[in-house]
Amino acid sequence: MNTPTKILLDESEMPTRWYNVVPDLPVPPPPQLHPGTLQPAQPEDFGPLFPQALIEQEMSTERYIDIPGEVLDVYRLWRPSPLFRAHRLEKILDTPARIYYKYEGVSPAGSHKPNTAVPQVYYNAREGIKKLTTETGAGQWGSSLAFACAQFGLECEVWQVAASYRAKPYRRTMMEVWGGRVHPSPSELTEFGRELLKQDPDHPGSLGIAISEAVSQAVASEDTRYALGSVLNHVLLHQTIIGEEALLQLAKVGETPDVLVGCTGGGSNFGGLAFPFLREKLAGRMNPTIRCVEPTACPTLTKGEFRYDFGDTAGLTPLMKMHTLGHSFIPEPIHAGGLRYHGMAPLVSHVYDLGLVEAIAIPQRECFAGALQFARSEGIVPAPEPTHAIAAAVREALACRESGEEKVILTALCGHGHLDLASYDQYLHGDMQDLELSDEAIAEAMKDVPVLA
Ligand SMILES: *Cc1c(COP(=O)(O)O)cnc(C)c1O
Repeated sequence: MNTPTKILLDESEMPTRWYNVVPDLPVPPPPQLHPGTLQPAQPEDFGPLFPQALIEQEMSTERYIDIPGEVLDVYRLWRPSPLFRAHRLEKILDTPARIYYKYEGVSPAGSHKPNTAVPQVYYNAREGIKKLTTETGAGQWGSSLAFACAQFGLECEVWQVAASYRAKPYRRTMMEVWGGRVHPSPSELTEFGRELLKQDPDHPGSLGIAISEAVSQAVASEDTRYALGSVLNHVLLHQTIIGEEALLQLAKVGETPDVLVGCTGGGSNFGGLAFPFLREKLAGRMNPTIRCVEPTACPTLTKGEFRYDFGDTAGLTPLMKMHTLGHSFIPEPIHAGGLRYHGMAPLVSHVYDLGLVEAIAIPQRECFAGALQFARSEGIVPAPEPTHAIAAAVREALACRESGEEKVILTALCGHGHLDLASYDQYLHGDMQDLELSDEAIAEAMKDVPVLA
């Protein structure tokens, strides 16, 4: 089919509502639990962490939530984002498949994360909050939040995983350009951080530890709240603008996907792309296979257990039922920093448990091989995280070459890799290794997961 390379929407066609998948699911998702009482968490339990509007969205059973005008105004700086038909990638793969990718690297921070950073900061600003704290790994989320805070005049304080703070100075600079303050985590600023630094002054840190530090600082101050860049229901909700736009764009060229693949770290770009298509599937209007793709070094869905666990290492967050490798698990330093999280979004975990989506794990060298094919044909250098989605799309396209099937494959290219070139350098010079997580390492980390009666 002769579709154009770039399928665009006018600003006036941009969706004005986010989609909440919860009311359409055949079984409601399990509630989050208060860590002390183990009873379902109540809205007031989240008060010290999040503004009221986001707590309501976190627990909402409304199918659609209007996007505030002030948020739409900021979205228009880069949205609607383009949907590309990967004609050139298809050609070098010699596949009859038709591959489409939704490109989120056009945002100021270079990834999908501003889609939720902007509304999160907006709702905090509206409720009089002056400062937000957060954690970041490679810096994608921290820079997105710093950008959004600059838009609405809030202070932004970021705990960055120490290993990344040292290895990836440029995203730290981006955060500072947008006015953020950045600390390596573990830090001397929190009790938990000081304790860890006493054990190991060169502690590499982890996302779970950085979350503990950012949360503890937020709850200690009246005009400060905390912001999370993935995992939670309201984050996935905000990201559904990706899938809603993609639906409109595919409709323009008369296509429906047969296979949808997305990379999953905490699950937000995947949920954002997939949930509007899951709605269509559950309503019987299309029937795509929907597949999560994760790294073999952090195989949360494919090897983790589906049970209640904490979102952070110190155990400060509510307990969430999710696929988890254990909140004390510290993943190997793979290049896809955004996919190194011990848990998976409760909503993604739930739809996986219900059998509505599939999951696979791919080692990083296959991912970078796919990324090079992609960069040399389509031109864009992908961030290390979506190389997993690309590798999965390549696998599908090659299977179509064998079978002769003309499947329509859809994925999200959720960020560009301009600040991740050191990873490409390692791959190109043969210094990259595949990391498989042993069953023993998983069993060890699972020991710390709370056992509920
Ligand atoms: C943060 C990040 C991810 C992982 O987070 P999800 O919530 O799983 O989307 C993936 N890709 C990029 C580019 C990121 O910045």
